[in-house]
Amino acid sequence: MKRYHLTTFGCQMNEHDSERMKGMLDSLGYAEVERRDDADLILFNTCSIRESADNRFVGHLGEAKRLKAEDPERVVGVGGCWSQSVKEKVFERFPFVDVAFGPGQIPKLAEFLTSDSLTAQGYFEFESFPGHLPPKRARAFQGWVQISVGCNCVCSYCIVPSTRGREVSRPAGDLVAEVERLAADGVREVTLLGQNVNAYGRDLPRGSKVTFAELLGMVDAVEGVERLRYTSPHPKDMREDVVRAHAELSSLCEHIHLPLQSGSTRVLKAMRRTYDRGRYLDRVALIRELVPDCAITTDIIVGFPGETEAEFEETLEVVEEVRYDSAFTFVFSPRRGTEAADLPDQLSHPVKRERMERLVEAVQRRAHERSQRFVGRTVEVLVEGPSRTDASRLRGRTRHNKAVNFEGAAEPGELTLVDVASATSQTLAGVQHAGRTLAAA
Ligand code: SF4
Repeated sequence: MKRYHLTTFGCQMNEHDSERMKGMLDSLGYAEVERRDDADLILFNTCSIRESADNRFVGHLGEAKRLKAEDPERVVGVGGCWSQSVKEKVFERFPFVDVAFGPGQIPKLAEFLTSDSLTAQGYFEFESFPGHLPPKRARAFQGWVQISVGCNCVCSYCIVPSTRGREVSRPAGDLVAEVERLAADGVREVTLLGQNVNAYGRDLPRGSKVTFAELLGMVDAVEGVERLRYTSPHPKDMREDVVRAHAELSSLCEHIHLPLQSGSTRVLKAMRRTYDRGRYLDRVALIRELVPDCAITTDIIVGFPGETEAEFEETLEVVEEVRYDSAFTFVFSPRRGTEAADLPDQLSHPVKRERMERLVEAVQRRAHERSQRFVGRTVEVLVEGPSRTDASRLRGRTRHNKAVNFEGAAEPGELTLVDVASATSQTLAGVQHAGRTLAAA
């Protein structure tokens, strides 16, 4: 039996694609191994969001080169966004690579592996969804469903549109059928995936158009789905019907990730984010009105080219006003092949670092204040397993996507109730609610 080792870099979309790749390889009779040294097929699913991601991956590729030199029968394959961004140059730069493919070409890997081809092959068309490939899920009770590929936005710092192509939505019927299969297979929590999920359905043919809010309703109606999440939405498409769905659909969790990127309307324009500060805060106000207890998280970039001290202050003002439950914060790094990489007024690293420190302080302080609202409450937790910090405790997540470490007895995949005793900015701590555990999911 041939053995494979797969290293995944980057976002949830890549994690999802890797689950499909593993499911496909298992169905071809390959077996997954823990150590790269033991593999006959060495695979990488790459990210290209930042230059640093490229450099980290190339470091790993060096080891594959050594292993291939030891045993030339080994096959080395490179998939994902970095592969798509450099295409055929993969083979020029790394002649020991046998097969390279973009995110839209995962099935071609099977074609290559089952062909007698000895020459290196590259597959880079934006063709298909891996949706029909059997997923090998990391967790039995959680499943990802990719609802669209690509992105029609042109954010000036982002490489994704060139590595994942234009937005293409999957037919709603296929998605509901996939969720039904997952639920029948024991999945309790479903996360809908897309570069821009809330733009879903616009490209579907007349007569089968379904809006994102309607799709949420269709998935919510599937028997067995206890929790429904989605990532990543765009503020410009965060319509009232989507926010209202969070108030009305029982499985749709009280958590909305709403990437801000910057609090300055001039910087947002230079980023080509197509919304301004006012529109963004208007969406936040709508969420606070329709789903008062909703957790709001975000993405913020500091140090975008030309960002002045005053414009950075505007970002801090939004953080103070919105009071996020948490935020992913990034120092701007120019990504070759993007418009922003060639913009004038690139800021120095010390300036970016100093702003990042102030931003993290504000985000953490507000997140800590926000998480205190859970202290003294009994929250529903989807159990994931032992706590990472204390093996005598369990770990899970609330519907607000807050991590919880607690004392109690429950199995991974179980929905249980926890009395919250304390809260940090990121994690809640507590004890299982006496005598009341929801039926094992
Ligand atoms: S919305 Fe913007 S940042 Fe997000 S994937 Fe599309 S282009 Fe990139």
